[in-house]
Amino acid sequence: LSDRLSGVFDRLTKQGALSEDDVKSALREVRVALLEADVSLPVARDFIKRVQDGATGQAVTKSVTPGQQVVKIVHDALVETLTGSDDPGKLKIDNPPAPILMVGLQGSGKTTTTAKLAKRLKEREGKRVLMASLDVNRPAAMEQLAILGTQIGVDTLPIVKGEDPVAIAKRAKTQAGLGGYDVYMLDTAGRLHIDQELIAQAAAVRDVANPRETLLVVDGLTGQDAVNVATEFDDKIGVTGVVLTRMDGDGRGGAALSMRAVTGKPIRFVGLGEKMDAIETFEPERIAGRILGMGDIVSLVEKAQETIEAEQAEKMMKRFQKGMFNMNDLKMQLEQMQKMGGMEGVMSMMPGMGKMKGQMDEAGIDDKMLSRQIALINSMTKKERANPKLLQASRKKRIARGAGLEVSELNKLLKMQRQMGDMMKKMGKMGKGGMLKQAMK
Ligand code: GDP
Ligand code: MG
Repeated sequence: LSDRLSGVFDRLTKQGALSEDDVKSALREVRVALLEADVSLPVARDFIKRVQDGATGQAVTKSVTPGQQVVKIVHDALVETLTGSDDPGKLKIDNPPAPILMVGLQGSGKTTTTAKLAKRLKEREGKRVLMASLDVNRPAAMEQLAILGTQIGVDTLPIVKGEDPVAIAKRAKTQAGLGGYDVYMLDTAGRLHIDQELIAQAAAVRDVANPRETLLVVDGLTGQDAVNVATEFDDKIGVTGVVLTRMDGDGRGGAALSMRAVTGKPIRFVGLGEKMDAIETFEPERIAGRILGMGDIVSLVEKAQETIEAEQAEKMMKRFQKGMFNMNDLKMQLEQMQKMGGMEGVMSMMPGMGKMKGQMDEAGIDDKMLSRQIALINSMTKKERANPKLLQASRKKRIARGAGLEVSELNKLLKMQRQMGDMMKKMGKMGKGGMLKQAMK
């Protein structure tokens, strides 16, 4: 995919704002990337459309191609779509004993994930966890959970032959209460395909346990199929989150996007292997990079944006050293101050500035002044901004009137520009690596 994309990027080397054609041809490739990552067609189509509408007309950062810029935009949009929860790793387990219901198809990784999460709760949150297998169809499955429990040092509900899932769930609830457990986890049986019996059973268990969290475990490699499963489970059982397993495999993680887009449920964890520690909190950034397979391009664009800022700073410093500090420079400084939260914000960041702030208040220097000063600079012509020495009486009057202010304010501004210019020159002369350079970093 990267090869094909770089081909497109080579063709798109025009700079400036993103044209509709730039966006379209780059997005064609992104669309293929999404489909290759197993994102379902309607979801991919929808997503591309949204990005297209947002991207056209955006400025292209110097030194990256429009195609690369589009990829960055797509990446950010993916992250936004994938983000479903501020804190996906936080399970709702207040009011002990808190029931957690695990559902999903057979082989999706329910039993493994149950044990992984139990281990996490025990180790990270110091919780006492009880696990119960409700998989009565396969005695081996109950054994499997018991073995994992021993391995990670988490209790499992003793196996009683002949009990049905609802009875096991009831016993788990009672046992969790009596035994002083914080959490009890119900690992349900799965089927190869979703069917009414499976759903009915899960619903019955849900009604008994009234789970705080119902986690749907989905094989991240199954792609589009996973979405149908998720929709069905959510409609019939109601899920509070998704765990995507086998994300250690070759899959591109497209299921994650489809799942989010179609069900709207947050992805909470990803399984990354068979070992008991192989589980992580879901990170949208990571999966977005994986779906696009273009992480290097995203960081390239970010880098380019940074470099440009550094380049500008360098250029400015060179000019200051030569004693050039015009109204454009002053305007930039004033705007920078505004961005940093005005005088007040800048002052609060500097220690020992309390006294100075008092003096400024007395002198009537406040944040409104910043906007007035910028208004004055805005009403100057290009030539005047570049060379403030041009400003004689008639020009001053015109400028002040244009900004709706007095000439005396303009005079103050001019004085400020001269003083700052002198200061900048001195600082610049202090040599490379001097104060100014430090300050611009
Ligand atoms: P269940 O039928 O839903 O309970 O599925 P299991 O928990 O028994 O898992 C089925 C198989 O998938 C087992 O061999 C697990 O070791 C394996 N498995 C589960 N989660 C992952 C994962 O995140 N990555 C990998 N590579 N294998 C997993
Ligand atoms: Mg199982």
